[in-house]
Amino acid sequence: MSVPRTREALDSIPVYKPGKPAASDAHKLSSNENPYAPLPGVIERAIGELDHMNRYPDAGCVALYDALAARFGLKPDHFAAGTGSVAVLFSLLNAMCSDGDEVVYAWRSFEAYPIAVELTGANSVRVPLAADATHDLDAMADAISDRTKVVLVCTPNNPTGPIVTASALTAFLAKVPSHVLVVVDEAYVEFVREPAAAKGLDVLAAHENVVILRTFSKAYGLAGLRVGFAIARPHIAEAIRKATPPFSVSDLAQAAAVASLESFDELSKRVDAIVAERDEMVRLLRGQGWEIPDAQGNFVWLPLGDDALSFAEMCDPVSVRPFAGDGVRVSVGDPSVNEAFLASAEAWQARPR
Ligand SMILES: *Cc1c(COP(=O)(O)O)cnc(C)c1O
Repeated sequence: MSVPRTREALDSIPVYKPGKPAASDAHKLSSNENPYAPLPGVIERAIGELDHMNRYPDAGCVALYDALAARFGLKPDHFAAGTGSVAVLFSLLNAMCSDGDEVVYAWRSFEAYPIAVELTGANSVRVPLAADATHDLDAMADAISDRTKVVLVCTPNNPTGPIVTASALTAFLAKVPSHVLVVVDEAYVEFVREPAAAKGLDVLAAHENVVILRTFSKAYGLAGLRVGFAIARPHIAEAIRKATPPFSVSDLAQAAAVASLESFDELSKRVDAIVAERDEMVRLLRGQGWEIPDAQGNFVWLPLGDDALSFAEMCDPVSVRPFAGDGVRVSVGDPSVNEAFLASAEAWQARPR
């Protein structure tokens, strides 16, 4: 008897396996979450939306797009929101790609990329990172073919940490054919302190074929509410909105996002504290003898190769994110938990070999 057959593209896509639950929320340094509670006033504004949960949310995200437009000095038609910027990427790739197309991205990079790309039927073209864990943009330009529809550039790169420089991105864009869309994923942009870093908004202003992805999940600490957005030329933003299921972003999430945008000073203070903690972790780890690439997000990368899984086990009860055969990503959390992690890292270096 025949059974309903799903698309072939799904055969190679792994089923999401949730990690081992951490000893507590604070011990979870595995998902690049923000250790702080929501910004002041955000919970109150979100709660204010609860009394009309019998109604659908504002499908036009009017207040959110207005707030984003004011923040970025662009018109509201430049934005497309979704349930996290991962969902926005799924919509964008669905709008751009189908069977046999190609999407070029660096590897290792964000683990959602292969899934988002291959669900559309397109093929991943992975270009190895350079030795210092940065994007090899020359090799990525060479990897563009007649079938390439989209290139993904992750800066800072998750999980390795370095940024793409403004000069490298500009030189890269000069080589990319104008019909290929370049997505600049800036999920961690608020944590960047490297002055040479590329700025998505600058390249968006200069190039028709650029899209920026931003999220409220990381610096703003709203990972659980699911809201992220693209900034793009209006016809691209419209295509992303068309490819997004209606009523995706709840009124709760929209209100929390708008309230978070109003809390700029407190956000800056918290981000500064996380950045200071990150820089201190990198300094101490290097002091322990680790080769840590430049860390510009809210996480650090330990290039452990085949030891990734055993190192992650040793960090227990702190939960970190191992990538088998490659390395371990550790989010910057509460200082006391970061300290516990640093003690494990030191013990690892001192282990009998
Ligand atoms: C976390 C992250 C995102 C955003 O995730 P959402 O929670 O879906 O907004 C996007 N890109 C990268 C590289 C990330 O690490």
